[in-house]
Amino acid sequence: MQAALFAVGGAIDCAKLALTNRPAFGLVRPPGHHADQSGSWGFCYVNNMAIAVRKIRQELDVGWVYIIDLDHHVGDGTQRIFAYDPQVSVKNISALERENYLERVQHLLKVIRKTDLLAVSMGFDTYEKDLGGLLKTEDYKLLGTWLRQASERLCQGRRFAILEGGYYLPDLGKNVLAFCEGFSGE
Ligand SMILES: [Zn+2]
Repeated sequence: MQAALFAVGGAIDCAKLALTNRPAFGLVRPPGHHADQSGSWGFCYVNNMAIAVRKIRQELDVGWVYIIDLDHHVGDGTQRIFAYDPQVSVKNISALERENYLERVQHLLKVIRKTDLLAVSMGFDTYEKDLGGLLKTEDYKLLGTWLRQASERLCQGRRFAILEGGYYLPDLGKNVLAFCEGFSGE
């Protein structure tokens, strides 16, 4: 339970950093996107992303938040928590092929019209050697780059991401690093 609380704290810190225009990636575990107010599954205990977003919206001047969930699994907990919140959008991406997946992410980022903050539930189980069997390491750098550019277009670069799934441990580190290179732009 202590690890779960640290993970929530890490997510909140990332959200707060994002609001000071410092992009952040929360290397937190356990993940959270399958947890909601009444239950949880899939290695999740509490919804890190949802708590972080709720907290900054309560305490700081943040109205619209766009949450993109790029885990292989649908972030059903996050979806349920914000189902009736008109200012928080939650979008998951799924596809059966790599090219199609990347196209869907690009399309989604193009059609977002308004947000004060871009928040990413970043799973790496879409990796070609992981459960999803789709993406290559270089694709994570692309995803990070596109998300950065979208945040610059939409909300003065306010963006953060937190770790959700990702179970192929030999390559998890390099995939996270590739994502962070694109996401930070450094
Ligand atoms: Zn997953």
